[in-house]
Amino acid sequence: REITDIHSPGTFLDPNAPPRVPTYLVALELASADKKRRKPGSTAWGLAALDLSTGEFRATSGDEDELLMDELGRLGARELCISSERKGDARIERLQSELPKTALTWVHGDRYGAARAKDTVAKKLGADEVKALEPILGDEALVAAGIALGYVEETQAKAVADGKEKREPLRHVQELRPYLPGEALVLDLQARAHLELFRAAGDGGKRGSLIGAIDEAITAMGGRLLGRWLAYPLRESRAIHERQDAVAALVARPTSLDRMREALRAVADLERLVGRVVMQRATPRDLGVLRTTLEQVPVILAEARVASGLDAGGSLRPGDDGFALEADDPSTPRSELLSRLASADACTDVVEYLARALVDEPPVDLEAGDIFRAGFDLELDRLSELAKNGKSMIAAMEADEREKTGISSLKVRYNRVFGYYIEITRSNLKNVPSRYIRKQTTANGERYYTEALRELETEVLSAEDKRTTHTRKLFHELVERVGREVKRLRRLAEALATLDVLGGFARIAEQRSWTRPVVDDGGAIELVDGRHPVLEQLSADLGERFVPNDLVISGDKSLMIITGPNMAGKSTIMRQTALVVILAHMGAFVPAKSARIGLVDRIFTRVGASDDLSRGRSTFMVEMTETARILRSATRHSLILLDEIGRGTSTFDGLSIAWAVAEHLHDHVGAKTLFATHYHELTELCRDKPRSTNHHVEVKEWNDQIVFLRKLLPGPTNKSYGVQVARLAGLPKGVVERAKTVLASLEAQALAAGDASAVERFAPVPRPRMRSKAAQLFLFGGGPGDDEVSEPPAPAMLPVGSAEVIEALESMSLDDLTPRQALERLFELKDLLKKQRKR
Ligand code: ADP
Ligand code: MG
Repeated sequence: REITDIHSPGTFLDPNAPPRVPTYLVALELASADKKRRKPGSTAWGLAALDLSTGEFRATSGDEDELLMDELGRLGARELCISSERKGDARIERLQSELPKTALTWVHGDRYGAARAKDTVAKKLGADEVKALEPILGDEALVAAGIALGYVEETQAKAVADGKEKREPLRHVQELRPYLPGEALVLDLQARAHLELFRAAGDGGKRGSLIGAIDEAITAMGGRLLGRWLAYPLRESRAIHERQDAVAALVARPTSLDRMREALRAVADLERLVGRVVMQRATPRDLGVLRTTLEQVPVILAEARVASGLDAGGSLRPGDDGFALEADDPSTPRSELLSRLASADACTDVVEYLARALVDEPPVDLEAGDIFRAGFDLELDRLSELAKNGKSMIAAMEADEREKTGISSLKVRYNRVFGYYIEITRSNLKNVPSRYIRKQTTANGERYYTEALRELETEVLSAEDKRTTHTRKLFHELVERVGREVKRLRRLAEALATLDVLGGFARIAEQRSWTRPVVDDGGAIELVDGRHPVLEQLSADLGERFVPNDLVISGDKSLMIITGPNMAGKSTIMRQTALVVILAHMGAFVPAKSARIGLVDRIFTRVGASDDLSRGRSTFMVEMTETARILRSATRHSLILLDEIGRGTSTFDGLSIAWAVAEHLHDHVGAKTLFATHYHELTELCRDKPRSTNHHVEVKEWNDQIVFLRKLLPGPTNKSYGVQVARLAGLPKGVVERAKTVLASLEAQALAAGDASAVERFAPVPRPRMRSKAAQLFLFGGGPGDDEVSEPPAPAMLPVGSAEVIEALESMSLDDLTPRQALERLFELKDLLKKQRKR
């Protein structure tokens, strides 16, 4: 026996793979994480992602582990190839635990190792290409690319279909596109999950996710491209404006949009079709589908040309009677991008050839019927005629033998084992002539052949045989011929997919009254009547009304504290803001009456432990680790959503952490931050922090019930509706220290006011909370290392006895305590306080 095919998760062209999701094989190369130990031109990691089903091939690199994990998560690789030379690298262990669905394949270090891998890339893409990519990507990404190519070549090219055909599994891989994670708006794993970009939190399905709400693409290629646009939103205003122009131009010309989308309905998955052609797995029906697809192209491109508004020919469509249908007003939006896409190579020569070659509906199976039209190939026609003639000659022989023998039930039959034979039933055996040669006895009679039948048989069968062989050969040539055009076909596929996605954006804009946002570098986000793109859609399905909201956040007013009771709509407003920002960066229109979106570099989100239902993780430690990461990596250009952070169990801890985090963001980061919180005490922060604002989501109390108005209004809430407790872990040291100070101060005040019960039952508490001037000064500016102090803190503010408690708190290593121990310690401290106050 021999190996005919090798399948692995990343190379198998799974016919049942979900059409709108890419199937990546990813190769990864790692270098030392320590910069000093790396060669120049080297990066800590580089990876290459190859989708063999479509030929898409791209590579990226970086130095941070976090970016690597994010990128691998984003790619959702089916299979990850790593050279066995890298065994033992600590990063691989982590990546295995974070990507449980990815199969890890160790490739042989000596066959794919660093030295060989780059040669492989040079051989495939040319040495010049490698030289051009090197400075952009660094060594590791190119090595990774070589590993991916080498692995596919070795496993797939060897698997030859029938010994004669050499498969070229990489023929459709025409280029390696470099990209850098920082080029796109960065959305890490947390943000993607929390904002439900690709999967809804509940059932993990597409419905309820952002992509579910905006996937109006008609083709599978369009669906995949949309996914890529969402995974890598643009950060460059020029490219964004280009897409926006295209959407606007399509919205302005609904007839073209309709016709374009209608024609796209008959467009198949050209990218994957080309993949099957290259892998010699295309069926005759596939090529028939390719023809149908290509037949739509002129219509689609013509409509795109009309819609671009830049049509020199005066907006003529094929089939129009020489005059333009839509007289174009000069103020109607125009689009360079549409015009460029419209001039894509329609591959008319390919479709003409296919139309000439193939019958109207070719079968899936090569032998299941006619594939080629009569007249396409003379030899095939001749063999077909022969095969057909042979059959009628056999029919004639049967009639002839009946007459000669007088056996009216005589039949000439055929089976695979014996070929053609004459069948005589038992009762007629006496009339069998002597020239009949017996072949086989059956229950009902005997089977014979004659010399003449044998001769005829040879002729007929060989004609059939020759016809099949020739058909195979012709089909193979046809596949070859189409295969030679992969580069053009892939480009066309990309143009069609782009038109499809833009058309989907236009359709949504039109149907759901989405608007074109002003995208600029101004750094402000201003929404008038903004809505949540997913909830708006779901509410519409349920016949409910989604309440729109205005929101402004800018460099001058970068920290927005949003208060309001549970279920008021705080989380919704924050998420919708982030989603609108993402849509704008994709070049799409947005659900708002008007919008201005300053470009952002990254969106961070963090949800308080008990609100983080989506991931089933609730430890406070995780919450704090992630908050810490945000504080470390955010910049002035980032957008941060903090939803109920510090929410857990301990009132003072939670509030203190929330406070310290908000303050740090305000004072040191300056990122645009939406901070939703239960702790209405936090609204006090705005008194002293000029770039912060208070907002609340309005509720009305009416007959003892809360009515949710869902309106975001300026100003703080005047009521806290239940605050919860939290434990502390993992924040940067300065923030932790500050949190402790705030905590102590708050406790001290509560005690000083003689309101012991407030320690246990913090809410509801009427405003203003702060009782003494001294306490305010301390809270709002007296923290260690804070240079905004205007007056020294008043030493008399602490009641007797609390100093010891504070000391005990400060020396306590919370990371090392179990929740139970912490609780016990808390009781001890309270007892201590009580005793001292009695003294
Ligand atoms: P919070 O974060 O304040 O607890 P949520 O944002 O989770 O509140 O909102 C609670 C529910 O209210 C959501 O599930 C949503 O269905 C509904 N909701 C929120 N905002 C709106 C709105 N603007 N219009 C209509 N319904 C809304
Ligand atoms: Mg919430």
